[in-house]
Amino acid sequence: MRHIAIVGSGPAGYYTAEAALKQWKDDVRVDIFDSSPVPFGLIRTGVAPDHQSIKSVARRYETTALSDNVHFVGNVMVGRDISIDELRDLYDAVVLATGAPNDRKLGLPGEDLPNVFGSAAFVGWYNGHPQFAEIHPDFSHDTAVIVGNGNVALDVARILAKSGEEFEGSDIVAHALSALEGAHIRRIVILGRRGPHQVTMTPKELGELARLARACPRVDPADLPPLAQDAALDAGMRKTMGHLRSFAMAGGSANDNADDGADDGADDGADEGATIVCPDRDIVLEFDFFAAPRAILGTDRVEGVEVERTHLVDGKAVGTGETYHIPAGIVIACIGYQTSRIPDVPYDEQGGRFANVEGRIKPGLYCVGWARRGPTGTIGTNRPDGFAIVERIDADLGPTGGTGKPGRPGFEALAETRGIDFVKFTEWQKIDEAEVANARHGAPREKFVEVDRMIAKAHPSVQDS
Ligand code: NAP
Repeated sequence: MRHIAIVGSGPAGYYTAEAALKQWKDDVRVDIFDSSPVPFGLIRTGVAPDHQSIKSVARRYETTALSDNVHFVGNVMVGRDISIDELRDLYDAVVLATGAPNDRKLGLPGEDLPNVFGSAAFVGWYNGHPQFAEIHPDFSHDTAVIVGNGNVALDVARILAKSGEEFEGSDIVAHALSALEGAHIRRIVILGRRGPHQVTMTPKELGELARLARACPRVDPADLPPLAQDAALDAGMRKTMGHLRSFAMAGGSANDNADDGADDGADDGADEGATIVCPDRDIVLEFDFFAAPRAILGTDRVEGVEVERTHLVDGKAVGTGETYHIPAGIVIACIGYQTSRIPDVPYDEQGGRFANVEGRIKPGLYCVGWARRGPTGTIGTNRPDGFAIVERIDADLGPTGGTGKPGRPGFEALAETRGIDFVKFTEWQKIDEAEVANARHGAPREKFVEVDRMIAKAHPSVQDS
């Protein structure tokens, strides 16, 4: 029998568990630890609330979670409630699938001013992550600046631009919906330090900006490279460029080419190149390319951003010396993430992830997903990653498999002596039921945003006694 501990119940964790079941069938027991009482990590607190079709992948993880050989162990912080070495003593292999939940810093003066957020905090806020429920962004100014040209920047821009009605069917939490409905934002500037050919936005996500009810995307035609240069791009980037080129053409109404108006956001890029024009919209979404932030301005709170114009030298953004100010009341840096450190686990400072060679950290300790390779790729990228790490563990354990470690019974004994109040999958299902029951009309759920309230649902008898 092999005993495997996976730390982190997001996509990388559940795909690894799925791979372990496939590889070892009945000859494996998998425990999936999470510091949160609720599973699914990024699916719950990272994927945008209006992207419900992406969130539905959690149903696949549920199949794995409900296997007799897999157990969820929620509300346990590895590194605090139990050490890595204790886990390694209990399990044949420990796989860190902890993702990259911390914001990378801009490293600019003024970055710590009030109303400057990293995307982990801001996305966590609108997605009901307990750690960020209280950040209280202020939307009273008419301009927001978003830094970064990736999909997270697009998520944030879209969420800021949507009207209350456009959140129908989403699971955006009540505190965020109400704050956004009262927002005064009329201009959203998306800063890219490089150019259109260097964005990491995918066409499906970019195309969604063309169908917003009250916001219009704008690109300065002067920023676009000559059309002929798009030929050297891959198919996805060519579609992305199609959208950016369409955003650069103005005049008319965006509704004229908004498909049938009933799109659920699952754009396949089919409208690439359509002319997007929208003079009457309330909100402008402005792509500012070749624009590197140099300082966040303000005294008691953010009042603007100092930007330096750039040009490309060998693909890198180099400042031209020309600077300008964008007055703004909120700044959200969407520039990537870092893995959280765990005591006694070697860390790669540069990469912001665990130091590893093909997922191996040290004997019996592995990492997978963003904790292994950094914050790149889609949710699906984690599946082959999970299968690859299981193959490596299999090779390391050898044909006899387990090393006689105690696995879950050993953990339960330790949890009892230490008073660790862990949450099982069936107990998460009680939280889930309560969230679904609390949903406002048309929404799939209203998430609990306080850990205590989640635990009260999971362990009602403990709370009542
Ligand atoms: P990303 O794609 O790596 O984009 C980060 C952006 O930040 C880049 O444009 C980068 O510019 C810029 N940047 C980095 N440091 C900067 C600095 N100091 N100053 C100015 N700009 C800076 O990362 P992400 O948007 O956080 O997304 C993470 C992953 O999640 C990606 O793989 C993404 O596709 C995925 N994701 C997918 C979806 C979806 O499929 N719907 C949604 C959200 C996220 P340079 O290129 O110049 O470095």
